[in-house]
Amino acid sequence: MGFSAVCLLPTGAVTGMTRRLRGRGSANGNASCTGPRGIATGVPAVGCSPAAGIANSGASTAAGSIERVTAGNGAFTISVADGSVVRAPVVVAASGGFGTPMWPALPGLDSFSGRVLHAAQYRNTDGFAGERVVVVGGGNSAAQVAVELAQVAAVSLTTRGPLRFQAQRILGRDFHWWLARTGLDTSRWGPRLVTGTVPVIDDGRYRAAIRVGRPDHRPLFIRLEGDRVVWADGMAEQVDVVLLATGYRPDLPYLAGTGALDEDGVPVHAGGLSTSVAGLGFVGLERQRSFASATLRGVGRDAAHVLDGLLQRSGRHAVRRVAR
Ligand SMILES: Cc1cc2nc3c(=O)[nH]c(=O)nc-3n(C[C@H](O)[C@H](O)[C@H](O)COP(=O)(O)OP(=O)(O)OC[C@H]3O[C@@H](n4cnc5c(N)ncnc54)[C@H](O)[C@@H]3O)c2cc1C
Repeated sequence: MGFSAVCLLPTGAVTGMTRRLRGRGSANGNASCTGPRGIATGVPAVGCSPAAGIANSGASTAAGSIERVTAGNGAFTISVADGSVVRAPVVVAASGGFGTPMWPALPGLDSFSGRVLHAAQYRNTDGFAGERVVVVGGGNSAAQVAVELAQVAAVSLTTRGPLRFQAQRILGRDFHWWLARTGLDTSRWGPRLVTGTVPVIDDGRYRAAIRVGRPDHRPLFIRLEGDRVVWADGMAEQVDVVLLATGYRPDLPYLAGTGALDEDGVPVHAGGLSTSVAGLGFVGLERQRSFASATLRGVGRDAAHVLDGLLQRSGRHAVRRVAR
């Protein structure tokens, strides 16, 4: 079994990576990414999202869930849920930057007797009519969910700091157009220039709704007690639901034990190349190289960069025909 590289390759990442592989070319001129059962040519990928454009490469996109990656003797061993095992000198973990909903350690949250859910579990206002709801978080999900829920429920949006807004349109153009036009979107200086919380991107509706108190905006509560929330001014109030719109982290349990993650399970890397495990790369992480890194428009560019870096380090021979 000879494998050249393994990419845990999802939707957004696939375009850039496949383009790069085609550009370099494999020994048979047909570099591609594919799932573990479709390993036929070029650089195989494990865990591709089915929507990946690599179907056009002629290789199967069948993918298995990756359970474990171990590193040793200059190669990786990848265990797939279907029982198969893959060996490769290069691995790209592209299984997304938002797989783990963040549950903050809020005082009393564990013993709160009302309903607690994460924004990742929220679908629509069904089941919330007439409820007293506290939404935790100051980002886009928090504002969007709180404003929507306020149509049917009594909602408070609670944040640790002030709410920040960013106008959706500037001089008739979308904010994202300006990011791209100015180069800030893909500049590595972008994330360094702007720090702090992500602003709520607003066409006016969120700020207007909050201004009239639907939802109202309050400082984060001090603690939860039973079915009550104790607000910063000491007042206690019964609430039905605490909804956590507190963000996400990457979900990379298959890399546990490799030394690639810090104590919070977050990749240790520079521009997507692991700084602790040779031959390992990442894509799709927030601010990996630029603002655009963890967006659909930026992840492909990063994927190409990461694959270039990995292949340069491992040598061009890394892309070659593979056989099972
Ligand atoms: C709430 C939210 C809203 C967003 N809104 C926008 C937006 O409006 N515009 C925008 O550009 N971006 C948005 N994004 C970001 C966008 O979703 C990502 O940038 C994009 O999906 C990243 O693509 P990716 O290819 O890195 O990973 P993903 O699209 O997340 O794909 C990861 C793939 O890996 C698979 N996978 C995970 N674990 C394993 C495993 N162990 N084995 C095998 N496969 C595995 C998953 O099933 C999935 O198919 C949003 C993200 C979130 C969370």
